[in-house]
Amino acid sequence: SSVSSDHIYKILRDTFGFDSFRENQEEVVQALIQGRDVFTVMPTGGGKSLCYQLPASLMDGTCVVISPLISLMKDQVDHARHLGIPAACLNSSLSARERSGVLEDFTGGQLDLLYLAPERVALADFSSLLQRVKLCFIAVDEAHCISEWGHDFRPDYLQLTELRRLLPTVPLAAFTATATHRVQTDIIKRLNLHDPLVVRASFNRPNLHYAIFPRENILRQIHQVVREQDGEPGIVYRLSRADVDKTALYLQEHDIRALPYHAGLDGGVRQQNQEAFNRDEVQVIVATVAFGMGIDKSNVRFVIHGDLPKNMESYYQETGRAGRDGEKAYCVLFFQRGDMGRLGYFLNQIDNEEERRAGWKKLEQMVSYCERSVCRRHQILSYFGEEYPRDNCGGCDVCTRGVEEVEATTEAQMLMSAIYRTGQR
Ligand code: ADP
Ligand code: MG
Repeated sequence: SSVSSDHIYKILRDTFGFDSFRENQEEVVQALIQGRDVFTVMPTGGGKSLCYQLPASLMDGTCVVISPLISLMKDQVDHARHLGIPAACLNSSLSARERSGVLEDFTGGQLDLLYLAPERVALADFSSLLQRVKLCFIAVDEAHCISEWGHDFRPDYLQLTELRRLLPTVPLAAFTATATHRVQTDIIKRLNLHDPLVVRASFNRPNLHYAIFPRENILRQIHQVVREQDGEPGIVYRLSRADVDKTALYLQEHDIRALPYHAGLDGGVRQQNQEAFNRDEVQVIVATVAFGMGIDKSNVRFVIHGDLPKNMESYYQETGRAGRDGEKAYCVLFFQRGDMGRLGYFLNQIDNEEERRAGWKKLEQMVSYCERSVCRRHQILSYFGEEYPRDNCGGCDVCTRGVEEVEATTEAQMLMSAIYRTGQR
């Protein structure tokens, strides 16, 4: 089919409110409109949803989106509806009444997007329903879950190997934020993609400088880093709400304009604080990981982690909020091995053994990232299945540790000189 590029840009602006596509989005959108299979690797936060939501909103028929988590689905549906795109989801959390309402809309051709849990696909009555409704294409989100070589294999995703046989004329689009070439090959084979457009965005963020320091007197350490930023905006992440409050207070007492952000604050206050940060009325937002969903402040100059992130995906996403404008920005993590215990405590609450074990493995990978004296960029990229071609990235504490080897000291001056040298390259 032919849809003019003008028309696509009009929808990008009018429906989604964006002036331009991010890297690779337009190619994927075009391919889907032309009815081609697609395989896309894009970092978390890179904008995968738009790649299928935009074509879904302008093509005939419903786009079925397979998504692994009920909570994710709900957010996506709310977001799509907010944009005016008719969307719904089917999963085990719906009441019988809600479910029949969704089915009615779906079979009546009222939906542009239908989010589905993977286990539905192979249910006999449901698959015959899928065959009767007009579909424009099927988007498989978090597609690495289908591969046992990936880090997040989900047996339910194996049902999706039936999609091609059930719906031989419906194009398939796979999306993931992690795929080594081995996983990529596996996904393409298991979904039986036909001559797909393969798009791989690089995960490298060349303007971000990564550094890790041992944590000791954390409030003082955070203050040191913030002070050296000369009033530039930044985000400080803390694990607990209590530590968010404590850190924000400490910074305020030391004449830094800082505000807290976490789920324990009244909704109105939280929004006010977020807006104050967006408008540059305060320098620093101290937050739990609840902060940042959908936020797009481009001039964040630093992100500090006062505690260990739970895995590399979270670390990548949280540090990724720095330097969206392409200008230099700093990512500083204060590491202490003891954090493993705190994070492990949460992991141990997970009932599903498989999920719990996967969580622990990711936590160990996060610790190893901090402890190994290997280029940080190299480690991040290799975690996401990408090779970094240079020996010295020039933008992390390991690579810029100069001739005068810095001892692992927490002396503020040493800390700052290390950060500065990181910045000078
Ligand atoms: P992913 O699924 O790849 O992790 P999302 O689809 O959730 O990422 O998008 C992440 C953020 O990027 C969202 O806030 C989204 O609104 C924003 N975004 C996506 N595409 C664009 C674009 N072309 N211009 C500006 N922001 C965009
Ligand atoms: Mg996504």
